[in-house]
Amino acid sequence: MTAKILDGNALAQKLRADFKTRAEALAAQGERPGLAVILVGEDAASQVYVRNKVKACEAAGFHSENIIFPADVAPQAVLDKIALLNADPKIHGILVQLPLPRNFDSDAVLEAISPAKDVDGFHVENVGALMQGQPRFIPCTPYGVMKFFEEAGIDLKGKEAVVIGRSNIVGKPMAMLLLHAGATVTVCHSQTKDLLFHTRRADVLVAAIGRPRFVTADMVKPGAVVIDVGINRLPDGKLCGDVDFEQVKEVASAITPVPGGVGPMTITMLLGNTIEAAERALNR
Ligand code: NAD
Repeated sequence: MTAKILDGNALAQKLRADFKTRAEALAAQGERPGLAVILVGEDAASQVYVRNKVKACEAAGFHSENIIFPADVAPQAVLDKIALLNADPKIHGILVQLPLPRNFDSDAVLEAISPAKDVDGFHVENVGALMQGQPRFIPCTPYGVMKFFEEAGIDLKGKEAVVIGRSNIVGKPMAMLLLHAGATVTVCHSQTKDLLFHTRRADVLVAAIGRPRFVTADMVKPGAVVIDVGINRLPDGKLCGDVDFEQVKEVASAITPVPGGVGPMTITMLLGNTIEAAERALNR
């Protein structure tokens, strides 16, 4: 069996066309969607992510602000800036690029963002709403993954879903979304005793580990849907996922590639969340 490739670039393009139309409609009513992205320090990967986010905002017709602080900035200066953005009517979404320098209390920074502008969905209020099954902002990466299932017509009801990884950004919200969609969900992590036992019975397998080509064909149930969230840089500079794509595509029924799978969907859902925030602001 050769798996159907779930094309994140194509899906992202389709969704972004719709977001652009919605952004134009909002702008016509005086509520142009606005996103502020805060970056602290000079981490090379973070700089790339932030640049891509700002570029995507501009292409979608958003107002965007890119705020860069040096690595040695006092945490209070970042909190003060967030307070200003919370009160700024031009800004509907605020995102702080993680990771922050070690001297920062990342939780305190995330909690300082107004829940109404928390387009990453990391504020405890939004995490709680997701847990209750009444999400306000869904974290962008797992939100993007759910769009693949929707687009491919994959019904999750009654499916065995296994998520590898339990981070607040990907694994945990992913598990919650799969659960709300009717799947029976198992979350595996670095302490899981018999990973193979779990992955081999997964109808839907989501890998969010951060280890290159960790998921091999023998770990996958024939016909499973495999979603690869991982982004790893190999010594030769190339990107690869957490799944051994070449092997696993021969076993799975559908699979996301890296690059070109979940990655483009993450930024796309950030645009979607910012539009939702602007639409809510207009309706208030
Ligand atoms: P993280 O480091 O916070 O979490 C990794 C998780 O993997 C942990 O919960 C850990 O328990 C688990 N893990 C580690 N080793 C394991 C093992 N041997 N067996 C089972 N579980 C194991 O990482 P994260 O932020 O969740 O990101 C995971 C990956 O996804 C990374 O490659 C990251 O770059 C990528 N990522 C991609 C996007 C995207 O837009 N595509 C967004 C966020 C993260």
